[in-house]
Amino acid sequence: MPDSPEAVTYLLKLGELTLKGENRGGFERVLRRNARFLLKGTGAQLVATDGRYFIHVAENVAEKIEFALDHLFGITGWAKTRFCEKTVEAVCKVCVEEARALLANGAAAAVKTFKVEARRTDKRFPLESYGIMAVAGEAVLAAIPALKVDVHKPDAVITVEIREKAYIYAGSRKGLRGLPVGTAGRGLLLLSGGIDSPVAGFLMAGRGMSIDAVHFHAYPYTSKEARDKVVRLAETLGRYTLGVRLHIVGFTKAHMRIKEKAPPAWTTILLRMAMMEAAESIAREEGCACLISGESLSQVASQTIENIRCTESRTTLPILRPLIGMDKESVTRIAEKIGAYKISILPYEDCCVLFSPKHPELRGDVEEAAAYYERLEIGALIEEAVRERDEEHCSFAGRRRPS
Ligand code: ATP
Ligand code: MG
Repeated sequence: MPDSPEAVTYLLKLGELTLKGENRGGFERVLRRNARFLLKGTGAQLVATDGRYFIHVAENVAEKIEFALDHLFGITGWAKTRFCEKTVEAVCKVCVEEARALLANGAAAAVKTFKVEARRTDKRFPLESYGIMAVAGEAVLAAIPALKVDVHKPDAVITVEIREKAYIYAGSRKGLRGLPVGTAGRGLLLLSGGIDSPVAGFLMAGRGMSIDAVHFHAYPYTSKEARDKVVRLAETLGRYTLGVRLHIVGFTKAHMRIKEKAPPAWTTILLRMAMMEAAESIAREEGCACLISGESLSQVASQTIENIRCTESRTTLPILRPLIGMDKESVTRIAEKIGAYKISILPYEDCCVLFSPKHPELRGDVEEAAAYYERLEIGALIEEAVRERDEEHCSFAGRRRPS
C-alpha cells in the first residue's frame, strides 16, 4: 500500500518517551497499543521502523487518522509525509512539490519564506545534512522564484529525513505530548458538570493515567439533562483516554441528610466530605489508585486551603488536583481546546449549586468538620448510594477500552 498513489504516510514524533531510558520499551508498547486502538477500522498500518513510527493509510481516511493523532497522548507532533528514492535528484524534486503544495494550500498569502531542514541517519547518502539543506533549498528557489529563504523565522519548514528511505514533509502539526494513557495506573475523577473537572481528567490522562469517573446527582433536584451533559463530558474526555467508565451515584438522600442535620454554612464542606468518602469506596472497588478533582485554590469558598483540608479528612487515597495553581482563564482555554467547554456551559444545574448556602464557612476547622460529619450518621446512606450506582461506558467510537 505505501507505494500506491492513493496511499499517504504519517510520521509520528515521540517526545518525553525518549527520555525514559530502560523503561522506554514499556512506554512505547502502550503508545503503539493506544495508536492502534484509535486507528482501528481505518485500515491503517502502524509501522515502527527506522527509529520512527509511520502510519501508512489510504488517502480517503486521512481525516480519521488526523482526528486520531490529535487525540493521542505521547507524541510531540506528526506530519503527513512523502517518501522517495534516496537520490539527491529525487529529494530535490519532492521538496519542490511540497513547496508548491504549501502555496496551493490556501496558505499562499501566508507563506513567503521557507527553509529546508535535514537529518541524515544513513551516512551513505552523498550529501551531509547541511549539503541537503543547501541543495534542496536552491532547487526550491529556482523552481519558485516568489519564495525566499529565511533560516531564522521562516513561514514554512520543509524537512528532509534520510533514513531507510528519504522522507520529506512540509508543516508538521503539534501533538498532545505527555505520556501514553495507561502507563500510570488508573485514577477516579470526580466529574461535575462544570468547566474544571474534565480539564483535570485531561491533564492527568496526559501524565499517563487511565480515567474512571464518578458523578453525583440529586435527582429530581437535578434534571435528566444534567446527567446527559455529564455523559457527554465523559465521552469527550474519553476520546483522549481510550474511553471512560462513568459511575453515576444518586446522592439525593445524602444531600437531604446534610441539609437536615448540619449548620447551613457547613453544608458544602460536608457534602464534599461525603462525596470523597463515596468516591474512595468506588475507587477501591474498581482498583483506582487515586482520586482526581478539579479544585483550584481559593476559586470558591469550598476550595480555601482550610476547607480542602476538611474535604480530604475522611479519605486516605491520594487526591490529585492538577488545577490547584491555575486560574480560570487557563483552565477555560484547555476546556475549549479539548471540546469540553461548549458542553460544560450548557445551563443545567449541578447539585452543588442547588444546595449551596448563601454564607458558606470559609475556613472550616478540621475537628469541627469531623464532629459535624459524625453527627450526620451518613455512612449507611453513602454505602447504599455507592451500591446502587449506575455505570456507563463512555467509550471511544463504541469500542471497549483495552485493559
Ligand atoms: P466549575 O467550573 O463550576 O468550578 P467544577 O467542576 O470545578 O466546575 P466546583 O464546584 O468547583 O465545580 O467543584 C470542585 C470539584 O469537586 C470539581 O472539580 C469536581 O472534581 C468535584 N465535584 C463537584 N461537584 C461534583 C459532582 N456533582 N459530582 C462529582 N464531582 C463533583
Ligand atoms: Mg471549580
